[in-house]
Amino acid sequence: MADQDSRSGARYATPEILGFVERVHAAHDAGLQRAFDAPAREAMPAIQLAVSEGKLLSLLIRLVAARKVVEVGTLAGYSALRIARALPPGGKLWTLELERSHARVAEENLAVGGVADRVQVLVGPARDSLSGLAREAPFDVVFLDADKGGYADYARWAHANLRPGGLLIADNSYFFGQLMAEKADAARMRDFHEFVGRSFDSVCVPTPDGLVLGIR
Ligand code: SAH
Ligand code: MG
Repeated sequence: MADQDSRSGARYATPEILGFVERVHAAHDAGLQRAFDAPAREAMPAIQLAVSEGKLLSLLIRLVAARKVVEVGTLAGYSALRIARALPPGGKLWTLELERSHARVAEENLAVGGVADRVQVLVGPARDSLSGLAREAPFDVVFLDADKGGYADYARWAHANLRPGGLLIADNSYFFGQLMAEKADAARMRDFHEFVGRSFDSVCVPTPDGLVLGIR
């Protein structure tokens, strides 16, 4: 049935198809490849965006002509590089990272990638960094990709600090497949969805782990 098929986002994707479309639409230059490979090389968790998701992020930045962007969850700087490369001259990305060791690797990748001038890595719990960053509001885009237990609060911060027409983006919105589980952290993630659904014009795009987009 057509409506059954349309519910299964990944039905037609094969490794061959994904490799082909990544190469054609979203190919890495040396800087992006370096940042993408860094988690494996540096013994960090390899939980960066997939290649096509990274390119999607950069297109979304361009679509809203974003100049001021906040990212929560830097890791080795792959998504940050995708964002920063899409900014116009004078644009700025603040990217928030809990782990000092991750931030150090990211800073190196961002410098090699040629965007050190427009990115600031803020080290510490995102909650603390966000309260200080409010003074730079309004922002054009807020991208969430850190601790999933924080999403509900981060989305409220985004609602308060995005310009009208600004964009909220959130990775892992299926909560690694656990979104409907009877657990407190899953309930917290459902609260994130409920808040975004009533406060933004939103959708959860069926990427492998769900990508929420919401227009403020
Ligand atoms: N956006 C990155 C991947 C981020 S992985 C990319 O696609 O390239 C999630 C990151 O969030 C990890 O580096 C982790 O250390 C960080 N993190 C976890 N809890 C955090 C918190 N409370 N505040 C800030 N960063 C946090
Ligand atoms: Mg993620």
